[in-house]
Amino acid sequence: MPKKFALVHMGNDELYSLVFVAGELLKHEHSIEWFDGDMEDVVDQMEQWGPDFVCFSPLTTYFEDCLRVSRDIKNRCSGVRTVFGGHHIFAVPESIDYDEVDIVVIGPVYGVIEEIISCPSKSVLKGTPIVSENMFPARHEYYRAIPRIAQRHRKYIMSHFGCMYNCSYCATSFIRSVFGSKVYNDFWMRRRPVSHLIDEAKILMEYDTKEVSLEDDDVLAGQEAEAWLEEFIPAWKREINLPMYANVTPMTIIKASDKVLEILSEGVASVQMGVQTARPESLKLFNRGFQKEDQVKKAYDRLNSFGIKVKIEVIIGLPVDDPVEDALDTVKMIQRVASGTFVSCFPLMLYPGTTLYKKCRDEKIELNEMCRYEWHTGEGAVKFDKATAKKIKNITKMATMFVKYNIEEQWMRALIDMDSTDSASKQLSQCQYLESLVFRQGKDAVDDFAKVLSGMQFRY
Ligand code: SF4
Repeated sequence: MPKKFALVHMGNDELYSLVFVAGELLKHEHSIEWFDGDMEDVVDQMEQWGPDFVCFSPLTTYFEDCLRVSRDIKNRCSGVRTVFGGHHIFAVPESIDYDEVDIVVIGPVYGVIEEIISCPSKSVLKGTPIVSENMFPARHEYYRAIPRIAQRHRKYIMSHFGCMYNCSYCATSFIRSVFGSKVYNDFWMRRRPVSHLIDEAKILMEYDTKEVSLEDDDVLAGQEAEAWLEEFIPAWKREINLPMYANVTPMTIIKASDKVLEILSEGVASVQMGVQTARPESLKLFNRGFQKEDQVKKAYDRLNSFGIKVKIEVIIGLPVDDPVEDALDTVKMIQRVASGTFVSCFPLMLYPGTTLYKKCRDEKIELNEMCRYEWHTGEGAVKFDKATAKKIKNITKMATMFVKYNIEEQWMRALIDMDSTDSASKQLSQCQYLESLVFRQGKDAVDDFAKVLSGMQFRY
């Protein structure tokens, strides 16, 4: 018997994982309908449609919001059952104890659709990974129902869903430990067929898409990267040709052949390179002790030599004795290796289930109740004294300027010590956001910026 599944979107970015859930539900001939969880009348809309199940896949940021929507729909429609999946739930399956949560799905949705329908309330189900050839996202239905996402200038696409690293602040190691390395390598690291990505991207072209983020955690990960890119980039240029950017890491850039960087440079104008932090002991805390400054410099120069612009991403607000000095060391390192480039400086977020989260919990490091997992707010997960918190927040909001204009240390120290008004804080974050768009899209992004902001809830 076909059932009716409501899928709830939350937040400013595409909910890519639930798009694949939608595809699987359609494959099993169930009815789906998307609802925008940020709309005030979302529960009215859902009640009118009359779903059997309501599905959520919240990031930690939106977990509370999803619980609120779930509570409201369950109060209105007593027969509805709520299904929660995604990274946050994976890390915290105990969430099944909440009244708002009827069924939890750990891992992918594959193999559990019929179980969702027949299982008793309060079941925790574990999905079975399948080969990427059998995974089909359903994007049309999503974009038609959530126009603000369809109109976003940037869309996501992924060729695989795994990562070769084990950063202590990330869920990757947890997923790998639950499913085992072999399964992880065989399924999470396996790339989707090029034809699938091209077909998917053709849908993006029907909407207002200015750029596409190839969201793979490292586009050069794995031995098949070169062969896959050799097939993918020409197909993308030939059939899609939307501006695209990708993620890389210093390690893979150093090891890549000239040939693969040449191919990459034909498909992307810029990349985002995760560098995280500068000090060896901080890198070790992140389980990235293998990374050295000279490798970062070499990777940056190498990308530039192939005409690929580099955005660098770093993290500050670490649970160390001198977080402000640690943060300034990181900014100064980026000034040394890549002065003038675009840098995004994130406050450290501790996600439940991650190694670093557990370490901080075991060491009784106090957590910041203001942290909403929104990087533009500058509010990270670790609680600091007032003066330190202010400086960390100011660094997250000014690091882009510090690196772009190579601001000298004494100026940086003076600026981060200032008290900021709400208006200044908002403008600084919007300046950073605009800078990221100009970095990738050029000056045209300035004219479109008001429209971009109007399609999102900018939290600063
Ligand atoms: S590189 Fe990114 S995705 Fe990979 S483990 Fe580190 S934080 Fe996670």
